Amino acid sequence: MDNSQIILIGVLLLFLALLIGYYSYSKGKGTVVDFLVGFLLSLLVSPLIAFLVVLIFGGTKCPHCRSRVEGKAVVCPGCQRELSPKTV
Ligand SMILES: [Zn+2]
Repeated sequence: MDNSQIILIGVLLLFLALLIGYYSYSKGKGTVVDFLVGFLLSLLVSPLIAFLVVLIFGGTKCPHCRSRVEGKAVVCPGCQRELSPKTV
């Protein structure tokens, strides 16, 4: 996972937080506090979602040396052994 992917996920999570904030804003009494509460709540949940996203899409472990390998890698950076291409 390179930096551009992390930034993309960050932007997506921020967008999600805004969306949830707006949702609670329209669902609630329609005050700015409702928006802020929803926004802050989703910001708190965001690291959990980011962790899950990294867990699912952030690559695999080398079957030979158990070091972390990026999803698209064909050769392990740790032990230089070839990795079997994984079909997702
Ligand atoms: Zn390895």
